Order: sequence, then C-alpha cells, then structure tokens
Amino acid sequence: METKLRKMAGSKRIALVAHDNKKAELIEWAVYNKNALARHRLYGTGTTGALLEKALGQSVSKFLSGPLGGDQQIGARIAEGKLDVLIFFWDPMEAQPHDPDIKALLRLGVTWNIPIANNRATADFMMTSPLMYEEYDIILTDYSQYIKRPLNRPTN
Ligand code: PGA
Repeated sequence: METKLRKMAGSKRIALVAHDNKKAELIEWAVYNKNALARHRLYGTGTTGALLEKALGQSVSKFLSGPLGGDQQIGARIAEGKLDVLIFFWDPMEAQPHDPDIKALLRLGVTWNIPIANNRATADFMMTSPLMYEEYDIILTDYSQYIKRPLNRPTN
C-alpha cells in the first residue's frame, strides 16, 4: 500500500466525548490536565462539550449531542482532516442507543490514523507525550488506487 503524510500542527484540535457514566471521570481528568489542554483547541459532543467548557473555563466547539448525531459529526471532521486527536471515554458496561455511530466514529479514527484515547490511562500517556505539542506527520494509507478501482459500469 502506498502512503502519504498529513501534517499535524503543534497545537492540536482535540475532540472529547464521554458517555453519561463516564462524564464525571472525563471532567476530573480534564481539570487535572487544564494547563495542557489550554494549549490546544477543544471540540466535544453537545453535553460533554458544555460540561467541559464550564469546568475548564475554556471555549469548546460543540457539536450535536452524541446520540443525536454528534459522534457522526466528529467522525466526518476526522475524515476531512479537521480534527487531530480523539479522547473518547465510552462506557464498557452499558449498551448505548447510538452504538452504530460509536463504532463508526472509532472506525474513522483508525482509518485516518489519529491518536485515540478510550480510557484515562491512555489519555494520561497521550497528554504527557512530547508529540502532543510538536508538529507531527501522520502516515496515511493512500487510497487513490482504491478510488480508481475498476467497476462494472452500466452498458447503456
Ligand atoms: P453527549 O454525547 O456528550 O452529548 O452526551 C456523548 C455520546 O456520544 O454519547
């Protein structure tokens, strides 16, 4: 597979999402990392974003609430190269009505090779990485051959 690069700036565009049972944990984590987060631009699903904004006193760009389409909006921004990092505390103990959206979001994060933290320990490792504050070249699979793949066309 061919590859190509996408340059991430030193200041990252971070999307934050937490399921209801994980919101308190994410807020506590974010307050602990307030100074580090202040060096980046923050985005969030509706409810998580509003809680973060209040707790941090930092502006957070808010999408729709997750179950109403917010996860899909974040996934679309990742595909467009408009978000750099995903911190997503999902609840392993409770089924969610928007489970397909969650799966789709995680899939796009992997497809576009962005850093993803799904729990607090990973988020800690991520925030203490020097790469969070430096330019970084994401190595992407070059899908141009896939886009040009031969297809059966209608004959008329
Ligand atoms: P919410 O969405 O922040 O609007 O609650 C989170 C989620 O995806 O469930």
